[in-house]
Amino acid sequence: MEPILGIDLGTTNSVVAVLENGKPRVIANPENGERILPSVVGIDPAGELLVGTAALNQAVLYPERTIRSIKRQMGREIEVPLGESRLSPPEVSAIILRTLARWAEADLGRPVTKAVITVPAFFNDSQREATRQAGRLAGLDVVRIVNEPTAASLVYEPNCEQQQRILVYDLGGGTFDVSIVSLEGGVVEVLASHGDTHLGGDDFDQLLRSELVDRLEGSESGRGAAPLDLRGDVATAARLLRAAEEAKKRLSFETFTAVREEFLKSGDRDLHLETELERSDFEELIEPSLERTIQCVDRALEDARMHAGQLDRVILVGGSTRIPAVSQLLAARLEQQPSAEIDPDLCVALGAAVQGGLIAGEQVGRVLVDITPHTLGIRVLDSHDPMRSTTIFAPIIPRRTPLPAIRSETFQTAYDGQEAVEVEVFQGESREVERNQRIGSLMLEDLSPHAPEGSPISVRFTVNLNGIVEVRAVDRVTGQQAAARLQRGTETAADSDPAAQHRASQERLGNLLGESLLAAAGVSATEGQAQSEPSELAQAANQADVNQQEGGEPDERPAIGELRTLRAKVERVRGQASEADVQEMDLLLTKLREAADAEHEEEFKNLAAQLDDLLFYLDEA
Ligand code: AMP
Repeated sequence: MEPILGIDLGTTNSVVAVLENGKPRVIANPENGERILPSVVGIDPAGELLVGTAALNQAVLYPERTIRSIKRQMGREIEVPLGESRLSPPEVSAIILRTLARWAEADLGRPVTKAVITVPAFFNDSQREATRQAGRLAGLDVVRIVNEPTAASLVYEPNCEQQQRILVYDLGGGTFDVSIVSLEGGVVEVLASHGDTHLGGDDFDQLLRSELVDRLEGSESGRGAAPLDLRGDVATAARLLRAAEEAKKRLSFETFTAVREEFLKSGDRDLHLETELERSDFEELIEPSLERTIQCVDRALEDARMHAGQLDRVILVGGSTRIPAVSQLLAARLEQQPSAEIDPDLCVALGAAVQGGLIAGEQVGRVLVDITPHTLGIRVLDSHDPMRSTTIFAPIIPRRTPLPAIRSETFQTAYDGQEAVEVEVFQGESREVERNQRIGSLMLEDLSPHAPEGSPISVRFTVNLNGIVEVRAVDRVTGQQAAARLQRGTETAADSDPAAQHRASQERLGNLLGESLLAAAGVSATEGQAQSEPSELAQAANQADVNQQEGGEPDERPAIGELRTLRAKVERVRGQASEADVQEMDLLLTKLREAADAEHEEEFKNLAAQLDDLLFYLDEA
């Protein structure tokens, strides 16, 4: 069976792992045994591509030829220079992923084409999509995008039968995530998740560098010299950043440390830095940042409707959790000592490998339930505004809804004879629509010119296990409908061709990496192609059928009778339906079965009506 790699594509470092005999193992660089690949890409003066430690080593000398922390840029429509080339964030990430895949190929002695890649739980859709794109560019079929804390929890509690509620605190180089995860009888469920995509060790390095610059300036002005301007000198700034990071790491193990950097340049002056940093100085600098993480912890507890005393365990993930102040603060606030038994740098990749094994059908005995990190909704007119000029955010899928999720809501047209509706999709938590992030839009046209104001338009959102959003709008009067798989933030211009862009990216990367990625197996250049295998939900629904047949006595409850009828209807249209529709139908069937078993009549009726609706439009189509 082809292994599925588990990849932690980190802001600072990346790690690859694989599941073997039910246990995850980190794969090292076959050349030097290093298990962590710095997420750094560079071009040396001879034009050779450098990845990882080699690129990091040249960062001080050639910061302009070196790209770091590209993960912070994922989902943004920018290009970064690399020597003569200009690369998009997914292209840079693809170089890192390709390097890890090569390590794995050398270690396993076979080609690998499949991977599970982790992202911070707080990543929005455009960032997730950019990550998938990076995987495809690296010649990898990204079988699943998994939240980092979720992956970590998969490693931490391998076999717990009784319910365990775990807080995963993940403070890495560039991002912070906190999740509350429930584990029980092999089922993992994320109860709540919060975070900040711009908070981590990189920020601490910057703070410490500013402190070093202040000290340098202080000592120079003491000598009566003119003020310094270090901003213009990138090499000096990069050296100081490196010195700051190293000092920070030492301060995790020592209470003070000396920093000595000679021959720093400011204009044509040579400067020498020699100072001593106390751990308490550093802790003071980062205290506001740590306080922000605690606010996220509090919000996550609130969302999970729990108090700290109910947590069975607190686990630490990410290199920055080695800072002693982190565990001290958590111990004080959560009234228990956090555990960091598994290397906080490797934990996430190990969990991704466990997830990969699960998908490959290996026996690891765990199921993953993920949630939507943001509320998804649309822009609507504010009904309380008599002038009807302001718009507000109407949530459709609330934050923390388990994935895959489907929700629909009915809205109304704004005036008589309205011929088109623009469904603008946003994610975020604010009622003020502009404060949320716009992730795309959909035009529903050719509405009935005779329809009065207030005619119903239903909008359905589907979010799959990878967090990808599908939107469908249906005019209830005419049956006219429109659907879109949103590009999330990366709204491609009408005249752009994603397949051509993908080929161009692959060509550029192929040149840099010295191999053709176009030939990589299992990679499609087209976006969102239909899968030929039945979805996991389809499998779950089929399994439910089997259980029913094996159960002996036929189940005579009316709800089950209705469910059978609905299931038969679904089977009739399954062949003609799109992948998204099949997923929607299967999800509704699964939820109907749950509602029937739990005897939730209202819920059952509601779900049955939704499925009927969908079947009606599919039958019409
Ligand atoms: P990650 O993104 O999880 O790989 O974490 C990398 C971050 O952890 C970087 O900002 C590192 O500087 C930081 N880090 C690694 N080791 C230590 C340490 N001993 N003390 C403090 N920070 C560390």
